[in-house]
Amino acid sequence: MSQPAGAAKRHSPLPRLDQFRRIVIKVGSSLLVDRAAGAVRREWLEALAQDIAGLHRAGADVLVVSSGSIALGRTVLGLPDGDLKLDDSQAAAAVGQIALARIWAETLAHLSLTAGQILVTFGDTEQRQRYLNARATIARLLDLRAVPVINENDTVATQEIRYGDNDRLAARVATMSSADLLILLSDVAGLYTAPPGEDPGATLIPVVARVTAEIEAMAGGAASCLSKGGMRTKIEAAKIATTGGAHMLIADGRVAHPVARLGEGAPCTWFLTGSTPVTARKKWIAGSLEPRGALHLDAGAERAIRAGASLLPAGVKRVEGEFVRGDCVLMRNPAGAEIGRGLVAYDAGEAALIAGRNSQDIESLLGEPGRATLIHRDDMVIAGERVG
Ligand code: GLU
Repeated sequence: MSQPAGAAKRHSPLPRLDQFRRIVIKVGSSLLVDRAAGAVRREWLEALAQDIAGLHRAGADVLVVSSGSIALGRTVLGLPDGDLKLDDSQAAAAVGQIALARIWAETLAHLSLTAGQILVTFGDTEQRQRYLNARATIARLLDLRAVPVINENDTVATQEIRYGDNDRLAARVATMSSADLLILLSDVAGLYTAPPGEDPGATLIPVVARVTAEIEAMAGGAASCLSKGGMRTKIEAAKIATTGGAHMLIADGRVAHPVARLGEGAPCTWFLTGSTPVTARKKWIAGSLEPRGALHLDAGAERAIRAGASLLPAGVKRVEGEFVRGDCVLMRNPAGAEIGRGLVAYDAGEAALIAGRNSQDIESLLGEPGRATLIHRDDMVIAGERVG
């Protein structure tokens, strides 16, 4: 079969694992949990943890999105095989998540890595304020060189408002944390031209430059017997991740040291992004937000941000409009002209209090420590700036 549209025509050098600075690794239940024994496959997990430690030692930030709570908990509770009703899966997750978090924490600790558990619901990634809170927690954990271990909070997620699969959740985590690579460890080596079990002529597609309708059609609908996702949610994840500026790859996780093997050239499917996390965010700021207010800058601040600096409170003379942290606001120069726009780090009232003041004074003015910048340079677009 000829290569489909969207598959890269020629193999320009593929990215190398060591060039990424922030990597999300998604681990599915079928890899992590031996369903017959109802227990974690420890040896496999220890080998994966060594891979994670290797990336971490080389300087990358690593985040793990791990499934397994329901698979672990259902055995403990003696729930039947097959699809679980919502209340049973919630109960199973409540029991299994404790074990899951402990195993990750212990396994990473043996390699001198600190794990931090984050359980998110759909709203935590889809509502702006909660998204910002979750993003800030992840950023702080990474600053402190911990390894966030993330799962959906299945205990409270209900049918209508849940991810249900960790492929798309992992993609949202990747964009939320400005990761540049998402690795989906799966029970297949990647995307095939046809389901490999059914069609002996099926070939692995090594690179997808763009997710086209033809690529989506190849994903079909069937999930593998153990994982929630299947190929369709992986393609959805690819769309989310690549739009957000991260490359994604799907690889066979059933082997020992699945990530180290990727570094040695193991087969996989790459989904490439034409963007970076910063340019993707900037495009979004430039194109899709309604400004909620304006910050009037002095001439020094205008010069500084045009030269690529973040906006500090000291350079703001006046604050206009009603906005909350995370809203898009305009930046205007002393003549009132729009210089650009960005996501503001403070509510309007707080911004007015700290405007014109030194960043060191923020704590005494607001009664609590806060960010030194009003708009971070990665969160702003200057008028006329080319973004990606
Ligand atoms: N969040 C679910 C769990 O931990 C798994 C979802 C999935 O397998 O994609 O059990």
